[in-house]
Amino acid sequence: MGLDAFVRCNCYRDGQAQPFPLPHLEAHIVVNDDGFLALNVPEDDHPEALRQFDEWKSHACPHEGMMVVFERISNWSGYRAFQEALGRMGWRHFPTLERELPALNGGQMPTAAAVRVLAELGLFRRRIGQQHNLFLVNSDSGDVVYEYIAVYDGVFMWSGDEKLNFGFNAGGFFIAAQHPQSAVRNGRVLFQALRLEQRLLSAPGEPLRVEYFNADTEERFLCHSLTGGTIDDYPALLHVEERPLTPEDFEYILLPLQKVCEAAIATGNPVVWC
Ligand SMILES: [Zn+2]
Repeated sequence: MGLDAFVRCNCYRDGQAQPFPLPHLEAHIVVNDDGFLALNVPEDDHPEALRQFDEWKSHACPHEGMMVVFERISNWSGYRAFQEALGRMGWRHFPTLERELPALNGGQMPTAAAVRVLAELGLFRRRIGQQHNLFLVNSDSGDVVYEYIAVYDGVFMWSGDEKLNFGFNAGGFFIAAQHPQSAVRNGRVLFQALRLEQRLLSAPGEPLRVEYFNADTEERFLCHSLTGGTIDDYPALLHVEERPLTPEDFEYILLPLQKVCEAAIATGNPVVWC
């Protein structure tokens, strides 16, 4: 789950697409409210025409589905991390992103706004180094496993089976019971550690058994969930650290946003969120 975006090409408008195979229905080709090129005829009366339209649209020009770009902008947790960084730097510096970034899948951003968003992304890259955040880090490799997201209270995994939330904050990594009223809220903290080991106790094919071990207090916690990997590849040693943010921490979202904005400017068409 996450946010995607695309920008339509102009091949059909400019007469550069292959001809629509049903010319008598061509007057019904429209850009619909969702930003898609669509054949606006009742589905019940024209199922075959709609099938042919989809077929035609997917191959009528060099752009698949008549989109010059189609980009995964981010999964939702990456999206929240980006919004929180913008918020900490001050939304007043990013008025276009504040107005245009969608809350849900859907909606459009006009070309004029795309020009301003590019400038705001440039500002973000220049200033992000002044911000700090907490990270859960693979102590062996130094790789970031998760970034702290305040709106999730630092939780990165909600285990419905076990009714446990896995997260971290300035006090360290924690495993908390889920709140009786809402799984997304934390109840009692059952395990906490600034430096920890996770140990896979189960053999291959057995139900997963994982021991979390506090490297400072030697406290242990047994459960069925691994943090940050698979049974073949998971971080054995983890710690929480605070460090400055860098543009590289946000390339996953900065690059696709930049791409769709550039495509909107090149075509004059809006960015369509989906
Ligand atoms: Zn095209």
